[in-house]
Amino acid sequence: MMPEDELPLGPEAVALLPMAARVLLDGAVADLEFDYAIPPALDGVGPGSRVSVPLRNRTMTGTVLIVYPAAEAEVTKLKPLLGLLSERVMIPPALMEFGKWVSGYYCAPLESVMRAMLPEAVREEKHSEKRRLFARLLREPSAEEQAVLTKKAPKQAEVLEALKAAGEPVAAVAFSGAALKALHHKGWIEITDEPVARDPHEGETFVSTKSLALNQAQHEALVTVLEAVRHPREAKPMLLFGVTGSGKTEVYLQAAQRVLEQGRAVLVLVPEISLTPQTVERFKSRFAEMQEQVAVLHSHLSKGERFDEWHKIQRGKARIVIGARSAIFAPLEDIGLIIVDEEHEGSYKQEQPPRYQARDAAVVRARLEGCAILLGSATPSLESWHNAQRGKYALLKLPERADDAQLPLVRVIDMRTEKKRAGKGSPAILSERLRIAIDQRLTRGEQSILFLNRRGFASSVVCQACGHVVKCPHCEVAMTVHQELGRLVCHVCGFQKLAPKKCPECKDPAILLAGYGTERVEETLRKVFPTARIARVDADSMAQKHKLRDTLHAFKTGKLDLLIGTQMIAKGLHFPNVTLVGILNADMGLHIPDFRAGERTFSLLTQVAGRAGRGELMGEVVVQSFTPHHPAIQFARQHDFEGFSEQELEFRRQCGYPPYGHAVLVTVRSERENLADFALKTLHAKLVKVFPAEILLGEPAPSPLVKSHDQYRFQILARARQAKQITGPLMQCLADLKMPKEVIVTVDVDPVNLG
Ligand code: ADP
Ligand code: ZN
Repeated sequence: MMPEDELPLGPEAVALLPMAARVLLDGAVADLEFDYAIPPALDGVGPGSRVSVPLRNRTMTGTVLIVYPAAEAEVTKLKPLLGLLSERVMIPPALMEFGKWVSGYYCAPLESVMRAMLPEAVREEKHSEKRRLFARLLREPSAEEQAVLTKKAPKQAEVLEALKAAGEPVAAVAFSGAALKALHHKGWIEITDEPVARDPHEGETFVSTKSLALNQAQHEALVTVLEAVRHPREAKPMLLFGVTGSGKTEVYLQAAQRVLEQGRAVLVLVPEISLTPQTVERFKSRFAEMQEQVAVLHSHLSKGERFDEWHKIQRGKARIVIGARSAIFAPLEDIGLIIVDEEHEGSYKQEQPPRYQARDAAVVRARLEGCAILLGSATPSLESWHNAQRGKYALLKLPERADDAQLPLVRVIDMRTEKKRAGKGSPAILSERLRIAIDQRLTRGEQSILFLNRRGFASSVVCQACGHVVKCPHCEVAMTVHQELGRLVCHVCGFQKLAPKKCPECKDPAILLAGYGTERVEETLRKVFPTARIARVDADSMAQKHKLRDTLHAFKTGKLDLLIGTQMIAKGLHFPNVTLVGILNADMGLHIPDFRAGERTFSLLTQVAGRAGRGELMGEVVVQSFTPHHPAIQFARQHDFEGFSEQELEFRRQCGYPPYGHAVLVTVRSERENLADFALKTLHAKLVKVFPAEILLGEPAPSPLVKSHDQYRFQILARARQAKQITGPLMQCLADLKMPKEVIVTVDVDPVNLG
């Protein structure tokens, strides 16, 4: 019987029916769902419960998807559930609904969505709460007893004294074990074992901050947000478009505060947390008084920490959850508001199954939860901007910087002329203009940030005699030179090898380290400015746990003059004494074959430029470029998002690219090149037949990254008004088509990375 069917019985009769559960088994490649009877002993089982079940002769674990009343005769045919792995229902109903939507829309197995909803740390039974021994006073000693004890056993007397003074249980580690044992034996105290939360921010103190008086634009935005919180069903999703430094974060904070005052919860999504430490810090500080109700979820948590934070949320103890994209699956209930900061960020897209886009999914979760949703950015994604333009989203604008600071002056330097100056063989890293600008800041005691989106020393090793480029044996990319490591590294798969002394092809010793990365820039800067205090911030130099935090702190407190870094320093950082930002190679992302290349470059330049002049001092930005007249660069120079988006949207509309319609990318991978090519062509031929005319189907072609991790990759892109128009027939085709074992097919709905 289908559980969705209406039962022709009244509620009382239904309550008497035996219950059955549909269980999704863990670890299966495809979704395996089976129905089981719920034995009376397990009547606490609900959707989301983790259970153990029999499957043939084995015991498996799984998650309950639905519970439904069934006729006696039906249930007796089912095997019973074996046990309940958790006392509580783990996934609230609205979240479960959301999970099913993600699975359907993004063509991802429900099992993979369940994995995201119940992270490994929560599923694994070996993790448990961290427990500690506590001592608690059972009986207060009289003055007499205390005096006797002080004489005979001073250590024990001290313990009693301390417990009496504390008036609550005290961690047992504070006292001598022998004294505790003796007191326990005599019946004075009780020793209990209690759960304690591991605090990922242990040892940090957050100074509580007060709300600022909002300016007019902020005030209007807040009023709209609060109205939406009050009447979420009638409200549209909101897009807060505010230039860098316009006080978006202040609006988030005050909106969050009001929602919390109403007793409801707030979910805040930020791009990968290592990129936005200051945003998290600002939330932690504003809500310092309710620290234990703030949960932070991100990829740098230990499994134990993740376990604790997740359970804290699941038990309803956390009222604010801040996290990177996967936090969209947090088991938070009674949500009043979801905030997605820096909504344009590519890192909201998950590149592994389930391949969801957390920003778009957040809009759906908000609808299912019946709560308000606020997306914010200085450079909105064209998807969200387009939705705001056509009235699907409400647009809130903060056109000016909040602290009266001016937007920085942006100069674009033509590096083609600088390159001639640098001469053959040595890369032009610092233009004369940028060198002078840094020098001025050093003299005036002001700070500078230099940005380059590439790690390592040189971007490739090239033989000057034969032109051979050293490539990764597993991927079709040049290997990057990492001088500190003394090795070449593949930035796609991580493969490393020693740098050759001569060309591996023609044996000529004239090998050239071409291009440059952050290591090389650091080396150059140290040569040009020998007395400057310089730090480099990238994934290599910041590998240790607190290194990033410490470096940013040193910079903030004036112990450093110059920061050179990758996108780790591009976002959300706020340093009042920074008056210069240098962008070393603005074109780097422009020439990749991706229709979003211009949008990404515009957004990155604007974000990075926004780091300059955030205090009373005027900021200056120097942009080095080999294509200085490119519109992405010119519009960024003018701080003109609307101008850029207008031009870019026109281009997208003409070509039928998102946000005009949706795209679905199908990639076929195999270690055998011919096989992958052939499999994709077969699929393509079939799709041509079944797709209706309104679907634009591209030709099968090698992916831009044609080989990665030893696998050859071929792809097709399909476009249509609605993703479902494509994914419906596509998934049907894939189910009908027998692909060879050595071939892996992936379907990416609304792809961000085009291969
Ligand atoms: P955004 O998130 O838009 O980049 P922030 O919220 O970081 O902007 O604000 C930029 C700076 O302006 C911060 O130092 C913040 O404290 C300050 N600020 C924000 N709102 C106000 C306000 N209403 N009055 C004064 N300063 C403000
Ligand atoms: Zn590789």
